[in-house]
This record gives sequence, C-alpha cells and structure tokens, in this order.
Amino acid sequence: MSQAIPSGVTVVDHPLVRVKLTRLRDETTAPEEFRARLAELSTLLIWEATRDLATRIATIRTPLAETEGAALARPIIIAPILRAGLGMVEGMLHVLADVSVGHIGMKRDEHTHRPTSYYFNLPAHLPEAEVIVVDPMLATGHSSSAAISQLKLAGAKRIRFVCCVCCPEGLSQVCGAHPDVRVYTAAIDPGLNEKAYIVPGLGDAGDRYFGTY
Ligand code: URA
Repeated sequence: MSQAIPSGVTVVDHPLVRVKLTRLRDETTAPEEFRARLAELSTLLIWEATRDLATRIATIRTPLAETEGAALARPIIIAPILRAGLGMVEGMLHVLADVSVGHIGMKRDEHTHRPTSYYFNLPAHLPEAEVIVVDPMLATGHSSSAAISQLKLAGAKRIRFVCCVCCPEGLSQVCGAHPDVRVYTAAIDPGLNEKAYIVPGLGDAGDRYFGTY
C-alpha cells in the first residue's frame, strides 16, 4: 500500500527488513523464532537510525603507519521502553558495542490506554548522549511520547525513536509532541483496533517475545 510518509519519519525499506517483519507478524511464529527475528530486525533498524551520527577524527596507528579514522562524537544510550523494548536491545548491541542501556517502565492502563511511569533509570551522562528510545510497537504513541517527555525532563537533548511497526495515530502523537525526535520504523500500518492494538500489526510484542500468552 502506498502512503505519504510524514516528515521526521524514516521507513526502513529493505528486503531483509520486510522479510523479517513478515516472520514477526505471522501468528505461527513461535517465541524462539520471534526473538531471533526481532534481534535481527533491530540490528537492521539501528543501522539506518544511526546513519547520521556525528563522528570526530580519531588518529590511530595501523601496523604500517599512522592514519586518521572516525570515532563517535557522543556516547550512545539505548533506552528500551519496558517490557517489549527489551527485545530490541540485543540486536542493537551487536553493532553498538560501546553503549549504555537505560530502562523506562511505562504501563498502559487497559481501559484508558494512557501510560503511567513505574520505572526510570538512565545513566548520568544523559545530557551529552545520543539517546535511542526503542519499543517494537508505536501504537497510540502515548507511552512513547510520555517516555520521551520524561527523558527530556531528565536532561536528554538528542533523542531518536526506533520501532518495528507504527501507525498514523502513534506517529502524529509522537511527532506532534516531539517534532525534534526522528522516528525510524519498518512499517506504517493502517491503524488501531478498539483495544489500541495496531492492525494488522503483530499482536502483543511483549507477550510474543516473552511467551506470556
Ligand atoms: N503493543 C503491542 O505489543 N502491540 C500493539 O499492537 C500495540 C501495542
């Protein structure tokens, strides 16, 4: 389906991304495969989401000569929104070895669908860091938006958001509240159902990752 991609949003359109996302969506995919594909998809997404990270010159010696290369200009913090966001961390650590992982606990009230914060633990260098907030599903956008607000209150200045699937409602919530935050996703689905699940989506990402259904 062709659709306009809102500004501030990158849809990572790569055959491997689409194939892995399809495996995640398939209801017959068991938790073991779900975890593996989510890790792989997260590696591919972080690749694109870090494409414009600032670097500085690093002078090193090869066995033959001194030369100039690159080092990241700022520390990186991955901030998964609990609990499903945890499933995206492992795959990102494969390419972001020198990184800190903070945790943000947001719970969705099943009736109001509004987020409440129950845990926030980020390292002290938050203000200097590139913060990458991760959650597989950007649904209503309320949890993500609240998590980003909490990060900003705690001093974060550079934030990007990575998810696997989002929908127009979630994008307009996050991009409306935080136009400075770029969103990276593998897909924009048509919308939400009455329980605020993304359709077609992939179901409850946390339940499918942790095998709790
Ligand atoms: N959270 C999920 O895990 N899936 C959705 O579709 C929406 C929110």
